[in-house]
Amino acid sequence: MAWSERQQAMLKGMGLRVWTPPAPDETAPADSAEPPRQAVALTTVAATVMEQVVPTRRAAGPGPVLAPAAVPAVPAGRHESHPAPDADAEQRARHIATLDWPALRQAAADCKACGLCAERRQAVFGVGHPRAHWMVVGEAPGEQEDLKGEPFVGPSGELLDAMLRALGLSRAEDGPAPPAQRVYIANTVKCRPPRNRNPAADEMARCEPFLVRQIQLVQPRIILAMGRFAVQALLRTTEPIGKLRGRVHSYQGVPLIVTYHPAYLLRNLPDKARAWDDLCLAADTAALAG
Ligand code: URA
Repeated sequence: MAWSERQQAMLKGMGLRVWTPPAPDETAPADSAEPPRQAVALTTVAATVMEQVVPTRRAAGPGPVLAPAAVPAVPAGRHESHPAPDADAEQRARHIATLDWPALRQAAADCKACGLCAERRQAVFGVGHPRAHWMVVGEAPGEQEDLKGEPFVGPSGELLDAMLRALGLSRAEDGPAPPAQRVYIANTVKCRPPRNRNPAADEMARCEPFLVRQIQLVQPRIILAMGRFAVQALLRTTEPIGKLRGRVHSYQGVPLIVTYHPAYLLRNLPDKARAWDDLCLAADTAALAG
């Protein structure tokens, strides 16, 4: 898709860098955990995500669209999605909360706190800059991620990368990018659920201390929660994404934007423009957060 000069000026005016998608035949092989490539051309999705936002943003006018947090910041108490921890789990969480990056990564690699360790090839810890302004939280590794040991490397990862690139963000672990263009990506659950089933509540609860500590170490200025499991873990709510998106929530005082999971977007094209609106809201919010 070619951007007109006017569209490019508009995106630049919004502080967003224009991403030019590769030719359609350059797409990578299929990830068996995800919809087949032929179901939707990734580049078309990514391009259309960006194309459709232009009229939306034009109609909305410039400026941030901040709304008060609708969900209590963090979990003062438990929620049905998160069973109450027993004494051992609490002690383990307290220990994990003291770990530095290398020790935390090692603890995740060695973790046997739930049954997911039985079938994983490896724990998929996280990727990106350890001190980034942006943090993306997904669901759980799929087959490709389990193989490679990195979050979001299948088709949904390609879409995520396209979205991040459009915002001028990079998942590089080091390099010259200023903090505002760095992102750290982590999943709610670090080990692949067998056959890509949904993570169970107790698996999420046992894995949670790792994500909590990752967020503490990264100290992001903005969190993008992608999909219902990330939202459940961070906001302790089972409200649907459609009801939560479009406003700024808070996790421990960090602004949090709710959006659709990239794998969902690959299957539900009509929501792609909404996802782009969410990214724009996140960009506006991050800019305000400095
Ligand atoms: N989906 C996720 O939520 N995370 C991954 O790492 C891959 C797919």
